[in-house]
Amino acid sequence: MELPASDTPPDKKDALIVVAEDDRMTREYVAGLLKGHGFRVETVQSGQEAIDRVTRGGVDLVLLDIMMPGLSGLDSCRLIKTLTKDSFLPVMLLTAKTDTDSRVEGLKIGADDYICKPFDERELLARVGGMLRIKGLHDDVHRAKRRLTKLAVQDELTGLYNYRYLHTRLAEEFKRAERYRDPLACAMVDIDHFKQFNDQHGHDVGDVVLAEVAHRIRGAVREIDVVARYGGEEFLLVLPSTHFSGALTVADRVWRAVGGVPVRKAGKEFDVTVSLGIALYPSRDVRTKDQLLKAADRALYQAKDDGRDRICVFQHQGYIYKPDVGS
Ligand code: GH3
Ligand code: MG
Ligand code: MG
Ligand code: MG
Repeated sequence: MELPASDTPPDKKDALIVVAEDDRMTREYVAGLLKGHGFRVETVQSGQEAIDRVTRGGVDLVLLDIMMPGLSGLDSCRLIKTLTKDSFLPVMLLTAKTDTDSRVEGLKIGADDYICKPFDERELLARVGGMLRIKGLHDDVHRAKRRLTKLAVQDELTGLYNYRYLHTRLAEEFKRAERYRDPLACAMVDIDHFKQFNDQHGHDVGDVVLAEVAHRIRGAVREIDVVARYGGEEFLLVLPSTHFSGALTVADRVWRAVGGVPVRKAGKEFDVTVSLGIALYPSRDVRTKDQLLKAADRALYQAKDDGRDRICVFQHQGYIYKPDVGS
């Protein structure tokens, strides 16, 4: 069992607390108390100002007085909770001890806690600490979830989408293309003689080249195009709404982006080239996404067979078009 390193509660002393209170005395008193215990505090005088401050970001906790002119604490709380529904921003209400109805309503609309006026200092600090601790845990989980989501779709070495995500996206794009009778192009890109490259210069240099090629490919296509690492030194581009000529233009740009300038690493220059196989939907022999992939693979194979460092386009019945570009 893992024991905690210390028994100090992990409350965030660098936390930013916004205190919204129309009564100057109370506002300054609460702010002073919290500052005195190491918290960063910003004060505002109305619910609207509190909302504006929350919108600008960086806030960890909001203390809202319920009775304020203009937007009440309860209405402000409701709006803040709507604004921050994708994260967790704790809101604590400041209420008069006798006002049970407001406290109950506040909790119902999403306030996380309340503090009764007049305050007991220790209770206020303890409740603030407790809220920040929960927020800290929530943020940790949120961060971990984001990291896992990213890892689940991303290839670590190149930062491109991984094989699994590619298949999900390709299926979606294919369905969309079918439904809207939109063209869809796909290009398989494979680094030429990469094995020799690894053998001669080492795996580390190989990795740098892979990452650089990935970067150049990504930079040569549109934002909406999907670029994935398909295998070791193989990439797949999915190009939505792209016809024959558009696909050729993209392929040519990728081919030039990779082969046009040597890759530099540790003061050395390495010439890297790629071969590309293109397939298009709709076309006579391409009616499913698997046929699209197979066709791109066939064209790539042809480009390799013809001597590499070039582009081939799969057309019907195995006919392969070999444009001047890239050869
Ligand atoms: P071709 O021109 O026919 O494509 O030849 P090639 O050598 O590129 O193709 P082959 O499929 O024979 O070799 C691919 C090589 O890619 C083999 C493997 O060691 C290397 N490779 C695969 N993944 C990685 C990686 O993550 N890092 C490095 N450095 N090399 C990798
Ligand atoms: Mg008030
Ligand atoms: Mg290769
Ligand atoms: Mg390969």
